[in-house]
Amino acid sequence: MPKEHKFGTTRKYRRVLFLSIVTFGIYYIIYQYWLFQDFEEHHEKAFDAEPRAYPLIANPTTMLIFLFIFPFYPIYVKYTLLYDHIRTSSIQSPENCSMGIKAVLTFVFLGLCTFGIAPLVTESRWQSAFNEHIIAHDYQKEDLPERE
Ligand SMILES: [Zn+2]
Repeated sequence: MPKEHKFGTTRKYRRVLFLSIVTFGIYYIIYQYWLFQDFEEHHEKAFDAEPRAYPLIANPTTMLIFLFIFPFYPIYVKYTLLYDHIRTSSIQSPENCSMGIKAVLTFVFLGLCTFGIAPLVTESRWQSAFNEHIIAHDYQKEDLPERE
């Protein structure tokens, strides 16, 4: 089940994968929409704690529409935003996800020849990086702006 934390929501990738298989992929599409909502939620809740971090802003509805027209775009956005957010945040995360371009190349070139395993591993690491970041916020000091 999705778990609510002080600075956002964490999700279990294995459960998402299981529900996606059972629903023939429909759950996975909804999951992509939720992820961008998770971005917005984190941005709203954690902005004060990490004012210098790259903002996690992408309209979930726009991303969902692009998922049907040109799916590489939301994939690129999802990885790029999280990668840059974790890289620039004062909150130390134990791990980061793939860079946007690397994730897209993995999907394109390794997707078929690994029977989808390489993209799924990349996706699982994305969720894990997001979860670790949300949890890291819970026990790290806020990055208060310097007084002038
Ligand atoms: Zn953050």
